[in-house]
Amino acid sequence: MSNQEKSAGLVVLVGAGPGRADLLTLAGARWLSLADVVVYDRLVNRALLGACPADTEKVDVGKAPGQAGPDQRQINELLIRHARAGRCVVRLKGGDPLVFGRGAEEAEALAEAGVAFRIVPGVTAALACACAGIPLTDRRHASGVAFVTGHQDPAKGAGTIDWEALAGIDTVVIYMGVRNLPEIVRRLIEAGRAPQSPAAIVARAGTAAQRTVTAGLAELPAAAESAGVNPPALIVVGDVVRLRDKIAWFERLPLFGRTAIVTRPRQQAGQLTHRLAELGAAVVEAPAIEILPPDDFAPVDAALGQLGEFDLVVFTSVNGVAAFASRCRRLGIDGRALAGAKVAAIGPATADALRDCFIRADIMPDTYTTEALGRAILAAGRWAGKRILLARSDIASAALREALIEGEVGVVEDVAFYRTARPERLPEEALAALAAGTVDWITFTSPSAVANFLALLPDGGGLAGVKLAAIGPVTAEALRSADLTLTVVAREHTVEGLVRAIVEASGG
Ligand code: SAH
Repeated sequence: MSNQEKSAGLVVLVGAGPGRADLLTLAGARWLSLADVVVYDRLVNRALLGACPADTEKVDVGKAPGQAGPDQRQINELLIRHARAGRCVVRLKGGDPLVFGRGAEEAEALAEAGVAFRIVPGVTAALACACAGIPLTDRRHASGVAFVTGHQDPAKGAGTIDWEALAGIDTVVIYMGVRNLPEIVRRLIEAGRAPQSPAAIVARAGTAAQRTVTAGLAELPAAAESAGVNPPALIVVGDVVRLRDKIAWFERLPLFGRTAIVTRPRQQAGQLTHRLAELGAAVVEAPAIEILPPDDFAPVDAALGQLGEFDLVVFTSVNGVAAFASRCRRLGIDGRALAGAKVAAIGPATADALRDCFIRADIMPDTYTTEALGRAILAAGRWAGKRILLARSDIASAALREALIEGEVGVVEDVAFYRTARPERLPEEALAALAAGTVDWITFTSPSAVANFLALLPDGGGLAGVKLAAIGPVTAEALRSADLTLTVVAREHTVEGLVRAIVEASGG
C-alpha cells in the first residue's frame, strides 16, 4: 500500500480460512505482513498472527460461546478508531469474512464512517468439507448447494429459514447447527427430506483435529451425540456424503490425529513442520533453541578477512551457512573470496544452503554426523600444512576439531559464527498440549535442543506416554543420558529421515 493510503488509514477484512494456517489466501498473507493492528476472532488460527510484523498490535475480540466479549458496535468503533489514527488494520475473521461472519455489518459501519476498506475473501468452512472427502456439488449427485445457519438471530424470530425450499436442494450445509441438530433434522424431514438421506457432521474441517461422523439424516443427532462431536462443526445433508467412502483422504494420512512438537529453532522449523503437517499431524512449534549473532564478531571478521588463506571451509549446519553468508554480505565480501578453498558440508540440507549461495560442496560424508564428516575430510586429501576453517556455533563439540588435529591438519580454526541460546520459556500452546496429555511425538534435531527442552519443562515432567524421536545418534545419546526412553532414531540423519522414522513407528 502506498504511503498516502497508509497515512489515511485503512481496514482490510481478511478471511482467515477454516482454521488451518496454510489455507489463508496469498492476499490475506500480504495484508497481514503490512498490518499495524490485527483484530481477530476466536476461530482464527493463532499461528497466522506470526505472519504480522513483530510490532503489530494484536487485539483479540473473540468470545467463547456463551461468554460476553466486545459487542459488534465496540468492534466497529475499534476498527474506525485505529484506521482514523492512520493505521493499516487487518480485521481477521474465520473462514470467509462475509459468510455468517458479520463482515458486511463491519464494512457498512466503515463506509458510513468514511473509512477506506478492502475485503479479502477466505475459504469458508463448508469448502473444507473437501478435507472430509465430501464434495458439495458433483455432476452425478448434486447440481446445487445451500449454505444456511442453524443459529438464527433471535431478533429475526424462528421462522426465516425456508425449510421446504431447502428440501429441494441437493446439498445442504448448515453452519452453527450442532446445538440445534435435533430440531434441524426434524424440520428437514418434515419438509420432505428423506429420513435416510446421507448426512454428516464435520467438526474442525480442514484442521488436524477434524472429525467426521456420518449417518442417515434421522440418525445423525444420536450418532453425533454418542461420538461427542463439538462445535465448530458443519452439518452436511445430501447424496454427496456417500462419496466420502471412496475419496476421504485427509483422515487416512499416516500421521492424522497425532500431535507432534517440533523443538527446532523457529528459523529452521519450517521444513519439519510442513512435512509433518502434510502427513496429517497437528504440529506445535516449541523452539528449544534460539539462533543469535555471536557476542563478538572479531574472530568471525578476522577469519573472513583472510578467507583466501584457508584451504578448506567446513559447514556443519544450515545456520552456519546463513551466518557466514550474512556476515560476508555485511562486510562486502564477494563469493569469489572462496575461490581457492574447498568446501565441506555435513549433509544435504547444509549442501543445499551452500548451493543457494552458488557454492557446491566438495566434501560430504555418507552419514550425516560430525564424526563421519571428520573422516570424510581426512579421506579427501592431504592436509599437512593446510588451513581449515570450521564455521560453526558457540557450542559445537570439540570432537571434530580434535579429529582433524589428530589427522595432522596444519591449522584448524574453529570460529563461532553464531550463538545458540535457550529461550525463556516454551510457548503456551506447547505447555498446554503437554499438560493435557495430547502430545504423541516430540522431535529433536540436536543434543542442545534436548538439554534446553528438558530444562524448560515445568518440573521436568509431562513426558509420560510421549514418544521421542531423534534425528541421529548424538541427539539420541543426549536423550538416553537424560534417562529418557527414546522411541526412534532416524536411519538417515535428515529431516526426511526423521519424518520417515516417525511414520514407520506410527504404523504408516
Ligand atoms: N465466516 C465463517 C463462519 C463463521 S460462523 C466461515 O466462512 O467459515 C461459525 C460457524 O462456522 C461454526 O459454528 C461452524 O459451523 C462453522 N465453522 C467454522 N470453522 C469450521 C471448521 N473448521 N469446521 C467446521 N465448521 C466450521
